[in-house]
Amino acid sequence: MRITVLESDFIAGAPTAKALPAPSLPEVAFAGRSNVGKSSLIATLLGRKKLVRVSRTPGRTQAINLFSVRTNEGPLVLADLPGYGYAEAPLSERRKWGPLVMSYFAERPTLFLVVAIFDPRRELGDEDLMLLQMLEELQRPAIVVATKIDKIVKARRKLAVAELNQASGLRALPFSAKTGEGVDLLWQVIARSCGIVGSDETS
Ligand code: GDP
Repeated sequence: MRITVLESDFIAGAPTAKALPAPSLPEVAFAGRSNVGKSSLIATLLGRKKLVRVSRTPGRTQAINLFSVRTNEGPLVLADLPGYGYAEAPLSERRKWGPLVMSYFAERPTLFLVVAIFDPRRELGDEDLMLLQMLEELQRPAIVVATKIDKIVKARRKLAVAELNQASGLRALPFSAKTGEGVDLLWQVIARSCGIVGSDETS
């Protein structure tokens, strides 16, 4: 069953995990370095041109933004985690990222899947590795997305994804917000992880 988004809304943003609205529906979180294409990926999933949220300045406000989504198969919540690695952000802000994301992973009982977004043209950085380590330590289900795949010539894509698999220790799903490649597959993974598609369905 193909997932279709019927409605989506910004719910709230919060600077700490505790300040978020109480957990209710299954939640999927999106993490990645600043400029990796996280907003574009979420907007593509929601079928929107742009992602509208409170703060648009990269790295300035360390906040978790929640979006409610109603799909043809059921409702869920998307959590846009703050981007990391924005060189021009004040150090005091950059330092908040680790503890904020760690407490969110640890304390959110409705978190069913974390989508770690990496650009397969770049090697994983310290913060990317820290993200993967936190996920493993806290045993959070995760998937890697290899984004901006359209920027790699077709003949090199397989190798780039294989290298990312190896570097991350997870299976990476090729994705492009520009061409829409991978969006249906990513929805399938999300829906299954959140239990909004019966496990007996195969397509
Ligand atoms: P964020 O900081 O992680 O939220 O990144 P954005 O979604 O704002 O994207 C950063 C830049 O990369 C923007 O100029 C986007 O247009 C571009 N971008 C994002 N995703 C893709 C993609 O899949 N393909 C291409 N070619 N460009 C992308």
